[in-house]
Amino acid sequence: MENSQNLSDPLILTVMLVCVAVIVGLTIAFRINKDVQFKKRLLVMSYAFAAVALLILLALFRVQTTVIAIIIPATVLVFFLQFKMTKFCEKCGRTVIQRTPFDRFEHCPKCGTKYGE
Ligand SMILES: [Zn+2]
Repeated sequence: MENSQNLSDPLILTVMLVCVAVIVGLTIAFRINKDVQFKKRLLVMSYAFAAVALLILLALFRVQTTVIAIIIPATVLVFFLQFKMTKFCEKCGRTVIQRTPFDRFEHCPKCGTKYGE
C-alpha cells in the first residue's frame, strides 16, 4: 500500500488516523461552538493532545534524540505563540487568529465588538 516501511506499520497508521479524526473534530467544535470559556478549554486541550501525539509519533518513528531536542522546544514556542495570538470574541464567540505577532486586532471582524470589553 505505502512505499515507506514506517507508514505501512498499522500502529503508526492508527495513530495518524486518530490524529486526523481529532483535528477534524476540534475544527468542527471550534466552528460550531460559541461559548468562549469552552473554546479556551478546548484550545488548551488541543495543544495537550497535539503534544502527546507528537511525542508518540516521534517515538514510533524512532527519531534521533538530538532531533527531538530541537523539535520539542520549537514546538513549545510555536504552541505558546499560537496561544498568545488566538482570541475569542466575548460577544459572538468568533475565533480570531493573528497571522503575525505584530498584528493587533482591536475589534472582532465578525461583530465589531472591541476586545477586552
Ligand atoms: Zn464578535
